[in-house]
Amino acid sequence: MLTLNRAYKTKLRPTKAQARYFNECAGAARFVFNWALADRKAIFEAGGKPNKFEQKRRFNAIKDDVCPWIREYPYEIADKEFTHVDIAYQNFFRRIKQGKVGKEAGFPKFKSKHKDKQSFVLRGRIHVKNGRVKLPRIGWVNLAESDYVPENIKINFVTLLERAGEWFISFQVEQQIDNPEIATGEPLGVDVGIKSLAVCSDGKEFLNDKVLVQYEKKLARLQRELSRREKGSSNRAKTKAKIAKLHQKIANKRAHNLHNISKYVTEHKRPSVVVIEDLNVKGMVKNHNLAKAVSDASMSELHRQIEYKAAWNGVEVLKADRWFASSKTCSSCGCIQDMPLDIRVYKCPDCGAEIDRDLNAAMNLAALAEGVKRPGLPVELSGSERSL
Ligand SMILES: [Zn+2]
Repeated sequence: MLTLNRAYKTKLRPTKAQARYFNECAGAARFVFNWALADRKAIFEAGGKPNKFEQKRRFNAIKDDVCPWIREYPYEIADKEFTHVDIAYQNFFRRIKQGKVGKEAGFPKFKSKHKDKQSFVLRGRIHVKNGRVKLPRIGWVNLAESDYVPENIKINFVTLLERAGEWFISFQVEQQIDNPEIATGEPLGVDVGIKSLAVCSDGKEFLNDKVLVQYEKKLARLQRELSRREKGSSNRAKTKAKIAKLHQKIANKRAHNLHNISKYVTEHKRPSVVVIEDLNVKGMVKNHNLAKAVSDASMSELHRQIEYKAAWNGVEVLKADRWFASSKTCSSCGCIQDMPLDIRVYKCPDCGAEIDRDLNAAMNLAALAEGVKRPGLPVELSGSERSL
């Protein structure tokens, strides 16, 4: 048996009354966070050493005087906020240690209803059944996807969060799965992100999403529109709401695309080994176009997905050394030449091979797993064969 810790995030479909209650819960969480932060500051200024357990005890002792209404909300909401403050402080001290000062050090800030995202944490008896989730003190709430979160799994805690007027839930679970059969397919190399999202060594290409590009253009247009709107006007608020909605749509679409890739390279192909590049291989951060095409965040998300899906499917993951010249090496004969980013086709001066740049890189990655170079010339694939 294999124990996996993972998260499932999905949209909720609360009733109006439930959504109102969620907002109040988030308000309660924010109140406790701010109380704990103020309390810490006071202790520090008095020369003491705060700790979250003492803080919690102190809060419980005074809460009926300070905020008797908090009893209307699940107990765990407050509980988690002491940890949140603790983490905020730890992060702050770590940044100070790294030599950061002022704004960069980021002293923990009080949360505001308007600036900060609405969220709260629940733990305790939480079940998923028939496309619904049962939450403590709240009861059954409909899930937008009825078959995504498995029933009968151990749920450690859930976070409810609001984005653009909609509520989402993230389940932190412990899942037991049977040891998967060892995958035996041919090793697969995956090259991520210049012209397309990903190219696999078997020729499969995941194109950049055209819809996503349209969304991003629309986003830029809305942001220009926002800058023209008068501050505090109702039109400005409307544009702001549109922008928030669009951000959410973009995030969902991006996640969907990444799931397609990670599913293909693990569950669908079941290669004995999947070879990916270590992050930051191509100086992603420095190149602005690249940063736009595939942000670092989605790169690491793709890696995370490939790694857990590989574990489920008995697939081994090999990470290529960040200095491995996957783009510069000829996948046919192994000769190395310089390959500036704008050159799309690898033309080998030695053996004459001509192959799509990313496919060449993916094949080199796959060859790392085999430990040998593939014999023979790869055939350059036509556009239609390469598309999704
Ligand atoms: Zn060659």
